Amino acid sequence: MADLSYLFVQRDAGSSVYTAVAKYLQTREDKSWKKVPRDSTRFNLMLGDRNKLPYSKLGQIRGLTQVVNYYRGSDVICRKASLVRTLKDYCEEKKLHMFEWMPTSFVIYPPCDQEVVVIGEEKFVRQRRSRSDERDQLKKCAEREPHVIWIAKSSNGAKGDGIQISSDVGSLVQMVDSQRKAYVIQRYIDSPLLLSGGRKFDIRCWVLIDATYTIYLYREGVLRTASEEYEPDRLDHLTAHLTNHALQQELSENFGKYEVGNEMFYDEFDSFLQDKYGVGLAAAILPQIRSIVKTCLGIVQSKLNTTGLDFWSFQLLGFDFMVDNDLKVWLLEVNGAPACAQKLLSSLVQSLVETAIDPLFVPYGQVQYGPNLFDQI
Ligand code: ADP
Repeated sequence: MADLSYLFVQRDAGSSVYTAVAKYLQTREDKSWKKVPRDSTRFNLMLGDRNKLPYSKLGQIRGLTQVVNYYRGSDVICRKASLVRTLKDYCEEKKLHMFEWMPTSFVIYPPCDQEVVVIGEEKFVRQRRSRSDERDQLKKCAEREPHVIWIAKSSNGAKGDGIQISSDVGSLVQMVDSQRKAYVIQRYIDSPLLLSGGRKFDIRCWVLIDATYTIYLYREGVLRTASEEYEPDRLDHLTAHLTNHALQQELSENFGKYEVGNEMFYDEFDSFLQDKYGVGLAAAILPQIRSIVKTCLGIVQSKLNTTGLDFWSFQLLGFDFMVDNDLKVWLLEVNGAPACAQKLLSSLVQSLVETAIDPLFVPYGQVQYGPNLFDQI
């Protein structure tokens, strides 16, 4: 009997989500998917390595539908500096005020930094001459409002690495100048909504763009909580101010004291909001999140769209937000290759496959292994 399986290659063993997708496809009861060696050219699905995606080689085999798990060009929102630039450029072009959900931000380059240039599938590192950045605008803004607190974050940073918080803009710019990479210096949200124990948190939401650029928001999200009480007057107390998991785990002996793994899920957050504000997550927070996600992805649609190409793309994104004590939601960053809380992983993976992969290969609706928690927005 002919083998009717679809074929996939897995190139990024470092991604916990796509490692789980690969495992899920291989063990699914309908046996519709088979893994082939990473260098195979005959495949339907590439679970690619984000930094080495061979777009130019996709869609070359006649009659073979191919899909890859990243949209080309998604870095326009998935690096902190490019997110700021993309949103500013859009607002300038449309003569709009900057979106009120984006903390005031400035992109700062050190006098000479290193730039990774991708030509075809090769990557080169080259010294970039100093170029004009937004330090003058930042200084003017800081002069107008001298009491504002700022946070400096490396554009490609993760896990809280190299972040500094200060009301002394000069010292932050000096710090950036001593580094070799681009930074975003952003207004610090100094009145965050605080959980029990007076603790700060951020929210990670998963967003999926399918091959037709339909946008879905995952029904569950996770709050990453601080282990220590928020201390507005001690900006160097990192575990009170930065809610990154890795940092909390490494630096705080209270990690896990309030929530297992410093993770709170939506049902508990909803109860907290109901008790404290008499309004739930669905009414107070999620409409703001949906609107921010749709606006961001609407702005970059023409830059990412692969309509007309010979292959399809989809992408899972991680949107990180903060909420202030007026229940206003702020966008912090967009992750192009997000990890997922362990508790949600298997259901996220199943929902992702059903939403972004099955419709391209299996008549829609034929296979459904569980509730699909991606809601179109
Ligand atoms: P990274 O990529 O290093 O995780 P983030 O932008 O996620 O950088 O910032 C790390 C943490 O710093 C966030 O989880 C949040 O707790 C805090 N943070 C980031 N930006 C702001 C801001 N503008 N105001 C207040 N806190 C912030």
